[in-house]
Amino acid sequence: MPGFEFFSDLERQEVQDVLDSGILMRYGFDAMRNGHWKAKELEIELQKKLGVKYAQLVSSGTAAVSVSLAIAGIGAGDEVIMPTFTFVASFEAIMMLGAIPVLVDIDDTLTIDPEAVKAAITPKTKAIMPVHMCGSMANLEALQGICNTHNLLLIEDACQAIGATYKGKALGTIGDVGCFSFDFVKTITCGEGGAVVTNNQDYALSADHYSDHGHDHVGNDRGAESHPILGYNFRISELNAAVGLAQVKRLPEFINIQKKHYSILREALSELPQVSFRAIPEGGEESYAFLSFFLPDLETAQKASAALKEAGVDGCFHYYDNNWHYVRKWEHLKDLKSLYPISAEVKEGLKYLQTKTFTQSDHYIGRNISCLIKLSWTEQDVKERAQNMVKAISSVL
Ligand SMILES: *Cc1c(COP(=O)(O)O)cnc(C)c1O
Repeated sequence: MPGFEFFSDLERQEVQDVLDSGILMRYGFDAMRNGHWKAKELEIELQKKLGVKYAQLVSSGTAAVSVSLAIAGIGAGDEVIMPTFTFVASFEAIMMLGAIPVLVDIDDTLTIDPEAVKAAITPKTKAIMPVHMCGSMANLEALQGICNTHNLLLIEDACQAIGATYKGKALGTIGDVGCFSFDFVKTITCGEGGAVVTNNQDYALSADHYSDHGHDHVGNDRGAESHPILGYNFRISELNAAVGLAQVKRLPEFINIQKKHYSILREALSELPQVSFRAIPEGGEESYAFLSFFLPDLETAQKASAALKEAGVDGCFHYYDNNWHYVRKWEHLKDLKSLYPISAEVKEGLKYLQTKTFTQSDHYIGRNISCLIKLSWTEQDVKERAQNMVKAISSVL
């Protein structure tokens, strides 16, 4: 997944352009910037690559999720349904707006289970937020159906799945709004950065304003711009955007390499009858950022994870005990360890986490191992890795 592995002269040149002009900010200073608008160019490149009308760069993927929810009008007391397996950013971004994260089970896709979503809908529900984890997707058709029936918004977190498609469309462009991250370990990196994408013109305009203190960006005198709405600073810098601009042009190359490496590893593991692979919804094509598979039970998965580490196979995650990605270790959320007071509504709305168990999620995450696919491996590296993986996993079966 990490684009940082292929950092090259292309990135250096883009950054050099920005340093030469000295304009590190994405807005204004028109006369001094020697025609360089890296953030603007990256937005246009994303629109083209993803086939979406509007892209708004922001400072991080977490910011992208908050901005997505904000432009869709989600705020105080609203419920947003999200999966138990994701990154902590999901509930952080929801709670930043005073909204309530409603966690529901995942299924064998390792993403949100549409049946669990249905069961969680209340009169307060405003949006469903699938998270396309580890390079593959939720069943978007089923989720869209639920959204239509219940008049809910569909916000896609595609932070880990740039380059993946569903029924021919890029992930992130299928729901009402989509989010991407360009942090240091994502498929495309800006160092830090993110993007909000949408086909909705009103949302796009709101994202442009909201991510820059509500500035309307009319005219070319920043100080004289009006502020039709309250906003915040979620801007990306030109330096970060410059890196991403070089990287995004190489996205098809990155995906091809991931697919090649993934296929070699998958073929090798397919020889083990006790290993099965995550389900991909019909019409879906992964980004091949991870190879995710299941072992027969939790104990075997724990042993396999240890055996892989022992054999020096790095980048394989057993998320069951992971602090960042799975509900079991989110004590700070369950106990509301906040530096500042949390609204009574959110406190009340999160009480369910004190007692709720997620046995279906445990069933899948407990048996799952997800291995990061690196770009910089040689073919020889991948073949050796495949052998080492088969050997390590076989030793615990
Ligand atoms: C990385 C990530 C984010 C947050 O992105 P940052 O750029 O690190 O803030 C959000 N959701 C998912 C699924 C992620 O993997």
